[in-house]
Amino acid sequence: MEEQDHLKNATSQNTSRNGGNNKKPRMSFTWVYIVIALALGYLFFAGDDLQKSGTASKNITYTQFQEYVENGYANKIVANKDEGTARMYVKPEHIRDVFKSGVEQTGKQPYVQTEYGSPDKLEEFITQQKELGNFTGELSYRRSNDTLMQLFWNVFPLLLIIFVWMFIMRRMGNSGGGFGGMGGIFNVGRSRAQLVEKGGENESKVTFKDVAGQASAKQEVQEIVEFLKNPKKFTDLGGKIPKGALLVGPPGTGKTLLAKAVAGEADVPFFSMSGSDFVEMFVGVGASRVRDLFRQAKEKAPCIIFIDEIDAVGRARANNAMMGGNDERESTLNQLLTEMDGFGTNSGVIIMAATNRADILDKALLRAGRFDRQIHVDLPDLNERKAVFKVHLKPIKVDKSLDIDLLARQTPGFSGADIANVCNEAALIAARHGKQAVTKEDFIAAVDRIVGGLEKKTKVMTEEEKRTIALHEAGHATISWNLQYANPLIKVTIVPRGRALGAAWYLPEERQITTREQMLDEMCATLGGRAAEELFTGHISSGAMNDLERVTKQAYGMIAYMGMSDALPNLCYYNQQEYSWQRPYSEATAQLIDQEVKRMINEQYERAKQLLLEKQKGHAALANLLVEREVIYAEDVEKIFGKRPWVSRTEELLTSQEEPATEQPETEPSEEQKA
Ligand code: ADP
Ligand code: ZN
Repeated sequence: MEEQDHLKNATSQNTSRNGGNNKKPRMSFTWVYIVIALALGYLFFAGDDLQKSGTASKNITYTQFQEYVENGYANKIVANKDEGTARMYVKPEHIRDVFKSGVEQTGKQPYVQTEYGSPDKLEEFITQQKELGNFTGELSYRRSNDTLMQLFWNVFPLLLIIFVWMFIMRRMGNSGGGFGGMGGIFNVGRSRAQLVEKGGENESKVTFKDVAGQASAKQEVQEIVEFLKNPKKFTDLGGKIPKGALLVGPPGTGKTLLAKAVAGEADVPFFSMSGSDFVEMFVGVGASRVRDLFRQAKEKAPCIIFIDEIDAVGRARANNAMMGGNDERESTLNQLLTEMDGFGTNSGVIIMAATNRADILDKALLRAGRFDRQIHVDLPDLNERKAVFKVHLKPIKVDKSLDIDLLARQTPGFSGADIANVCNEAALIAARHGKQAVTKEDFIAAVDRIVGGLEKKTKVMTEEEKRTIALHEAGHATISWNLQYANPLIKVTIVPRGRALGAAWYLPEERQITTREQMLDEMCATLGGRAAEELFTGHISSGAMNDLERVTKQAYGMIAYMGMSDALPNLCYYNQQEYSWQRPYSEATAQLIDQEVKRMINEQYERAKQLLLEKQKGHAALANLLVEREVIYAEDVEKIFGKRPWVSRTEELLTSQEEPATEQPETEPSEEQKA
């Protein structure tokens, strides 16, 4: 089945919502650095200063020392036998003679220090000087308790750094649920995965019953439950159990919930982690966390690893090589890839990951043997919203008058999480007014409040917009139903999905070659959206941008590469070299190509308008049905327009045993032709 997104919203592409995730703000390390710098600076300058301000000192030779004492400069002498040094404190009146500066600079008790040869010699010298009257002070001894102080000054900066480091580590350790304290340091490389298991502290049994709607996604993950429960059934037949599934969809649509439900149904442990948890400021931490996560998981196998927001690590590599890239993220991603390759398919570990942008993920992640399954989890449509409401209304005491249909209708574009939020908000509002049960008015107030809060963040649309989108999508449907060669329609929705506001699904025919008529019919159907907008709303909108882009590319392809226009028949200007700046045709031809493209698209646009006017009644009925139900299927379209008079080629092939066309499919120009 092929899906074609239509009606891109060109302006609001930002669907990320901060509501649900409770990430703690990253700690700012700047101030820590400042503290360290200040402390070191203080030590550097103050260390010198401390000695100078109190007491100036100077190292001198023993001869000089003898000279000073003989001159009668000495006030008192303190010898340290441990060090073999002696300090001579200088008499105030001789400070200038020794230090060449005044008391202001040297302090009250400056001293000079020397190393003496032997204590006996020193004592002999001092006694001699005393007798001569050159020295009248005391000779005393001291132990070197000072060295402790010195040691302290040497070690203190180191201690300070270690202390600050520990502090940072502890902060990080705590934020991830580590056991803090000293453990923090050693826990950087540990994964922060939250483990949900039987009998564990945060045991919670989520089952498929808790996930409302999402029928197709549920069906796909059902298989994973089977793999986990009964792997032998598959491996005995030689099948390989998939390693990973990627849940793709906007935030709040229940991706985490689905993964949890898989774990709950299969009754296996569930490791949950966010992609951004891997990425830390320290080099190599991400990779070691990945390793640790897989090690833990293998111990608990069979189990499920769930990585939320995998785009935080899985963004395509090397795309931004010019801008330096992010080596840490790349090495984390590489480790993840290695781990996914590393464990055997039968180890019982299945990785589920969620993202809302599968297109930016590294191709290596999506390769077979890794996340080779993609499961789309879309915003709920009307009926699904009803189901989600039912789930979340269960614990709430509601008034009998409450009409769930109405609620579902009032909340187009809401995700499951938004609906859960509405229910909660309504209960709060009712409680604030002291009501016994939550009434319809409370719900309406809650919806208003959430719409107000969400307006810019998610695709909440107004009635008017919904109508326009319905007219647009009905335009596609009407035309494709009524043109012979257009692909048969399967389903049309106006539920916003990814960046598209609505979509029509077609069953493309399996064909090796496509004729000009088929391409033109397709083009006409693609233009049907905008044509319907112009005809029935009187305005054209940005919503058709994606359609127009496709049509333009298609037309250029048909004219420049496939020789399908009358003005440029049988010419192919296909250029195999991707980065060649030369056009293989003249300026005049370029103009002709542009002209022909315009002509072709205009023709098809007029044709689409013509057809829409002919089928105006049916189109209006279809649009109304879309507004009402949000999703309609081929059967509904058939009821309006009647059965398509043409049998599709696929069916034709099935009924008549005719050989398929034997013509050569188009091929790229061969080497000789290119030269
Ligand atoms: P995602 O991982 O896709 O961002 P979550 O799985 O975390 O979204 O969903 C957030 C919450 O929204 C869930 O805990 C649940 O309460 C609610 N929710 C979302 N989708 C559904 C759903 N289909 N059925 C029931 N509840 C849902
Ligand atoms: Zn469209």
